[in-house]
Amino acid sequence: MTLNQALAQVERLSALKRLPNGAAVRAELAGKLMEWCRGTKRATPLEQAQWLIDKVTTELDEYPGPQTLHAMLIDRFYPAGPAAVYRAPEPVPIECPLCRDNGWIEDSEGMNDWCQCAAAAALRAELPGWLDTLNRHGARKPKPRVKLTAAQFEARIGL
Ligand SMILES: [Zn+2]
Repeated sequence: MTLNQALAQVERLSALKRLPNGAAVRAELAGKLMEWCRGTKRATPLEQAQWLIDKVTTELDEYPGPQTLHAMLIDRFYPAGPAAVYRAPEPVPIECPLCRDNGWIEDSEGMNDWCQCAAAAALRAELPGWLDTLNRHGARKPKPRVKLTAAQFEARIGL
């Protein structure tokens, strides 16, 4: 299921009362749908999402919230319980505190560089061009957004 397909399903919930407004909320819900609808032998992820939205819009007139949506989906497709969907990964101990086993670290200028650990060596052997890709596309961690105080905000907009 693509993001657009998931968004289209979320849009179908618009008929319900109390569906929160706002693109961000809908995008988040679409993301949840994509995460929840993993497909089964008999239903594709999109079919699962369609089934869920069909059921909600025919049986309810108020948006029930994500927990209920998820429970309905589990109930129908994964009755063995959430464990069938959420197989918690085995915790893997982190060996390199520097890069947290990612294999690369960010320098003070925001550029990425190889770490010196085994994880870095393994990644480097597998994907020698990885750093170039990261640095070229600027796929760096976003800088934390600075929240303006009311006074700073007013100064910025010229009050
Ligand atoms: Zn490392």
